[in-house]
Amino acid sequence: MKIAVLGGTFDPIHLGHLAVAEEARRLLALSKVIFMPAGRPYFKDRAAISPAEDRIKMLGLAIAGQPIYLISRLEVERPGPSYAVDSMAQIKKQLNPADDLFFIMGWDNLMNLHLWYEADRLIKLCRVVAAPRPGFPQPSIQSLEHELPGISERAIIMERPLIDISATLIREKVANGLTIDALVPPAVAKYIQQKGLYKPSIQH
Ligand code: ATP
Repeated sequence: MKIAVLGGTFDPIHLGHLAVAEEARRLLALSKVIFMPAGRPYFKDRAAISPAEDRIKMLGLAIAGQPIYLISRLEVERPGPSYAVDSMAQIKKQLNPADDLFFIMGWDNLMNLHLWYEADRLIKLCRVVAAPRPGFPQPSIQSLEHELPGISERAIIMERPLIDISATLIREKVANGLTIDALVPPAVAKYIQQKGLYKPSIQH
């Protein structure tokens, strides 16, 4: 089986994530795509990340009725920082040795992969699939190889989809009272509204 993990904060999940997952599934003939929300990402210094339970509920609403999509609670249940390498090692242990494991990310993250904790071990555990992200240049395999030897054999650079959506944009729109209907699945927009997520905090 070919299985891919899409790691992220998912605060909230949006149509960019879903399009990337779907394109990777199509391109690589994946059997499963596992969305893996981070507990407390060590590289994001944004003060308030929504509670894991809200982020997981939104993921569940976004992928409902699509059995090839799964959610892993591994990182939200692990205390301390979330390192992709530890999660992927744990997932790999549960797979058949013949299974193929992939880690999906945007071009923005591939460019910084060499800075990730034990990136060299990560790319031995799984291949990396990188989707384009508007505003970020296509990473050059030569310079990536220079920073992270071995990556040229392990990276698959996707050329589509090109979706200009980020969770930051969504949080900003909600905070400014603007609609996010074109950016997230309807059930996710409804959840955000019902729970009052991303509203600016009241200043005293
Ligand atoms: P934020 O704006 O809060 O930083 P984000 O939109 O980048 O969030 P994450 O949950 O951090 O979302 O992203 C998870 C993964 O999905 C990352 O590897 C990121 O590069 C990738 N990704 C997110 N949005 C897109 C997009 N529109 N196109 C391609 N890749 C994306």
